[in-house]
Amino acid sequence: MGRLEGKSCLISGGSKGLGAAQARLFAREGARVAVGDIRDSDGGRLVDELRASGADALYVRLDVTSEADWESAVSTVMEEFGALDVLVSNAGIYNRAPVEETTLEEWERVMDVNSTGVFLGTKHAIPAMRRSGGGSIVNMSSVAGLVGSRTQTVYNASKASVRLLTKSTAVQYATAGIRANSVHPGVIETDMINEVIRTDEERAMRMSLTPIGRFGTAEDVANGVLFLASDEASYITGAELVIDGGLTVQ
Ligand code: NAD
Repeated sequence: MGRLEGKSCLISGGSKGLGAAQARLFAREGARVAVGDIRDSDGGRLVDELRASGADALYVRLDVTSEADWESAVSTVMEEFGALDVLVSNAGIYNRAPVEETTLEEWERVMDVNSTGVFLGTKHAIPAMRRSGGGSIVNMSSVAGLVGSRTQTVYNASKASVRLLTKSTAVQYATAGIRANSVHPGVIETDMINEVIRTDEERAMRMSLTPIGRFGTAEDVANGVLFLASDEASYITGAELVIDGGLTVQ
């Protein structure tokens, strides 16, 4: 019996990186998985792979900044799977610039995806979860949503907003049987991080700051998301799960 047996799940930004690792793990644990993204061909290939392994999977075009896309993604999941039990708001974009060098345009673009995108997902998942008898919302924040940084501005602000949006959701919908928790990865080996850490010196420096002595993997994060999504976490809501190899505890 899988840890998400029969649960109907929607993962935003599921076509690659951390979201794709979650989709694969969820499918292995018996979930029906809807991958929502703007990368249609990557998402389509992933869904083919999941189906080939015997899972019930589908791809939905979902730009998380579009309310109409959220409405249609949630209704497709309800029509095809008959329920929405788990939403992972995983889609996000990175930005690195100090305050004075952050343009208003960059600020709005990153807030739109990382903050407004999570709000819209939460807002449209809740009525479907009510109809499904409850659910679990897992929102992808970051250690950048917990502590400040010399180099990031809007990324910090956007990820910090996810942290408190999640707690308010937890408080407001606990009696409806809907839990909401945030996940805070540190440095995880994905395209996003490889675009950011470009030199061997910076890699070594960042790794030396991590007590566990290595960067995380997409599976390290997916394991945490799986736990929060599953009924094993049925008494956990409004929590922050930090998955950072000890980076922020020192
Ligand atoms: P990634 O760039 O590899 O994947 C991000 C996915 O989100 C892509 O499939 C992309 O198409 C999708 N996406 C981007 N904008 C979208 C939009 N408007 N609508 C729908 N989908 C959209 O990044 P990743 O490393 O897998 O990051 C996943 C999440 O984890 C992000 O929220 C990121 O901020 C967070 N995170 C990552 C790390 C890390 O070290 N990689 C650390 C902390 C937090």
